[in-house]
Amino acid sequence: MAELGMDVPQPHVVILPFPAQGHIKPMLMLAELLCHAGFDITFVNTDHNHTHIDQSGFHSRFPRLRFMSIPDGLPPEHPRIFSGRLAPDWLFSTRSVSKPKFKDLVISLSQETGRWSPPTCIIADGIMSSAIDVAEELEIPVITFRTYNAGSTWINFHITKLIEKGEIPFQGDDMNRPITSIPELENILRRKDLPSICRVEEVENPVLQFYITETAAMTRASALILNTFNELEAPVISQLGSIFPKIYTIGPLHALLESRIKDHPRSDSSNGSLRKQDRTCLTWLDSQPSKSVIYVSFGSVVVLTHDQLLEFWHGLVNSEKPFLWVRRQGLLGMDEEVGETPAELMRGTEERGCIVGWAPQEEVLAHRAVGGFLTHGGWNSTLESILAGVPMVCWPQVADQQPNSRFVSDLWGIGLDMKDTCDRSIVEKMVRDLMEGKRESIRQSSAEISRMAHDSVQEGGSSYCNIDKLIEHTRSIM
Ligand code: UDP
Repeated sequence: MAELGMDVPQPHVVILPFPAQGHIKPMLMLAELLCHAGFDITFVNTDHNHTHIDQSGFHSRFPRLRFMSIPDGLPPEHPRIFSGRLAPDWLFSTRSVSKPKFKDLVISLSQETGRWSPPTCIIADGIMSSAIDVAEELEIPVITFRTYNAGSTWINFHITKLIEKGEIPFQGDDMNRPITSIPELENILRRKDLPSICRVEEVENPVLQFYITETAAMTRASALILNTFNELEAPVISQLGSIFPKIYTIGPLHALLESRIKDHPRSDSSNGSLRKQDRTCLTWLDSQPSKSVIYVSFGSVVVLTHDQLLEFWHGLVNSEKPFLWVRRQGLLGMDEEVGETPAELMRGTEERGCIVGWAPQEEVLAHRAVGGFLTHGGWNSTLESILAGVPMVCWPQVADQQPNSRFVSDLWGIGLDMKDTCDRSIVEKMVRDLMEGKRESIRQSSAEISRMAHDSVQEGGSSYCNIDKLIEHTRSIM
C-alpha cells in the first residue's frame, strides 16, 4: 500500500462518524489507512468535538487528511450523554440539524478549486443515515461503516422480525428466554443478550425506531465496513453477505495500522482520543508482576451509581489483586461527589490500586503486567482485549454491550459475563476466577483468538487483504 504519485487522480473520501468516542476512533484509523494509500480524506467532526481531538500529529504524518466540522445542533453545555446512554436528542439532531449542514459542506467541497478534487465517495457511520441521504442527493457513491461487530450488526437487522414474532418489547420479564430466530446465533442468545434498545415498553419507542431506521438505511450503501476479522465471525459475516454485496472486515484496525504503516506512532496523543491520557499508569504497571493486574474501564459512555461504584470497589479490593481503574470525569453522571470513602477501600487502593482519569488503553492491555480486563464490553475495548489476549469480565450496560458480553463468554469462550448483576461478592469471585486461572480454557481461547487476530493483519491475512480490496472498490466507484 505504497503512497502513489501526486499526478495520478486519487479518490477524495469524506468520512462522517457519529460524534462519540467509540465511533470516531475506528473511523479515524480507517482515514489514516486510506490516506496512506494515497487518498485525500476530509474527516468531519462536530464543532463540539473538533477542538478536543489532537490534530497536530495527523497533520504532520498525513498532509492529505484534513479535519472539518459541522454543528451537532446541541448547545455547548448539553451533556450529550444522558444516564449512561447517547442522549436521544443527540441522536435525532444528527438528522434534523447535521444533515443540511453536512450537505452544504459536501457541496462546498465539490466546488473547491485548487489541490482538492471533488469528493468521490462518502463513508457514513452506520447510524448516520443522513450522510447516505446526502450522498444520494448529490449522486456521490456511499459506503457504510458500522462500528459494531458482525454479530451485533446481524442482530440489529433482525429487530423488526423479533417485533413481528412478539419477542420485543420486553421489560425485565423472562430474560432467560432463548432467541431462536436469528440464524447462526440460535443457541447463543437469550432475551437479556439482545441490544439494550430492545428493553423497552413499546415498539413505538423513538430510540428503538431510530436504530431500526438507521439499520435499514445502511443497505442503500454500496458496501459495508466492519472493524472485526473473518476468522472471529465467519458464519455471521457470511449471513450478512445476503444483505450487502460487498463486506470489508478490516479489524482489528489498530493492529492493521501498525502492520501497514511501519513507523506508526500508536503511543502518541494523536489517536482519536477525545480525552487526555494519563500515561503515569504505565510506570505503575512496570512495577507490577506479570499478568497480576486487573484493568478496569467502562469506556466513554457508561455511568455508575454510587452504590455500583462501591460494589465494584469492594469487590476489587476484596479480590486482593492489583487493579488499574479508569474513573473518567462523568463516570458518576452529573453527581461527581463520591462522599466519604470507607477506610478499607482507601487502604486497599493505596496498597494495590492505581486510579486514573483516562488511560492509554491499547498500551495498557498490551502491557505484560495486565492479566484481566473488567470491561463494559464496548466493541472497541473488547477487540483491543482480544488482540492483546487478555481475558475479560464483562459488565454490559447499553447498546451492543449485551450481545458482545454473551459472545465473549459463550461464543468465543474468552471471558465471563456479569450481566445484570452488580454485587461485591460476584465481582470478587469473577475477578479471582479470571486472574487465578481457574478457567484454564478461557486463557487458552484468549491466546488462540489473539493469535488469529494478529495473523489477520499480517501480509496475506484476511484483514490485510480486505483493506486492499476496499481501496480497490473505492477507486473503482470514482
Ligand atoms: N479508551 C481509552 N482510555 C480509557 C478508556 C477507553 O483510550 O481510559 C478508549 C478505548 O481504547 C476504546 C474507546 O475508548 O477504543 C472506547 O470504545 P468502546 O467501544 O470500548 O466503548 P464506548 O466508549 O463506545 O462505550
